[in-house]
Amino acid sequence: DLQGSFELHNGVQMPYFGLGVYLSKDGSEVINAVKEALNHGYRHIDTASVYDNEEGVGQGIRESNVDRNDMFLVSKVWNTDQGYDSTLRAFDASLERLGTDYLDLYLVHWPKGEISKETWKALEKLYKEKRVRAIGVSNFLQHHLEDLLTSAEIVPMVNQMEFHPYLVQQDLIDFCNSKGIQYEAWSPLMQGNIFDLDIMKDLASKYNKTIAQIVLRWDLQKGVVTIPKSSKKERIIANSDLFDFELSEDDVQLLDGLDRGKRFGPDPDNFDF
Ligand code: NAD
Repeated sequence: DLQGSFELHNGVQMPYFGLGVYLSKDGSEVINAVKEALNHGYRHIDTASVYDNEEGVGQGIRESNVDRNDMFLVSKVWNTDQGYDSTLRAFDASLERLGTDYLDLYLVHWPKGEISKETWKALEKLYKEKRVRAIGVSNFLQHHLEDLLTSAEIVPMVNQMEFHPYLVQQDLIDFCNSKGIQYEAWSPLMQGNIFDLDIMKDLASKYNKTIAQIVLRWDLQKGVVTIPKSSKKERIIANSDLFDFELSEDDVQLLDGLDRGKRFGPDPDNFDF
């Protein structure tokens, strides 16, 4: 169901479906999106300091009918804050803006060479101090993970990556699974481009569901956490209506087969900081 979860390697339950708020403007837009989502049954909100809307996310949480302890709140340390001390300061600043005293998951937003090992040490400290229930990374390809693991004490619990039918990266998923790292999708709707694909239109009519519901259901059947973004109430509600049908194994493979290594976001190996 909508409040179901996958278990992280430290035993924490991570709701497998959540709301993304990238480009949801701070103020009424993000406040309402978060509030509507939580009141409708979402239990997982994905923000980041660079989204510049943590204050609104915090307010939406407080205005909702859901207790802070019954939801899974995620934020990320931005590239310019990487390093040990600066990450600790960035974490405190995120908590302050969100108006909470812990996070459920804190992620390194992008790999940034050697300094990310210092960033990771800071996340390990925050985790050991129980100021965050789980720690992870985002946009880490296999070689970034292997490099991090040479010095990490704690294996990341999550890797949040661009993931949709045009960018599956099954080898990376398999590698993460082999290390107990939960895979998570960003831009699961291909930033809106999924709606143009004829094959998605065909599947939507076959199952009598929307295109968004088909692709988000595929994420969950592949064991991938998903966080579609919308700030429109009707879409927030409709996007979560995935629990009354199942894609056949053939259709899962049909979507897998659309993979063409195409990114809509930046390439982690060529990201301009
Ligand atoms: P997305 O794939 O979720 O697509 C969002 C777009 O689809 C928006 O334009 C929205 O208006 C539209 N949309 C949503 N539901 C719709 C529907 N039912 N019908 C028609 N259009 C619909 O894109 P995203 O926001 O890039 O990704 C989701 C979340 O992932 C973000 O909000 C953010 O939280 C996270 N993210 C993380 C990173 C990272 O580097 N870690 C990068 C990008 C996004």
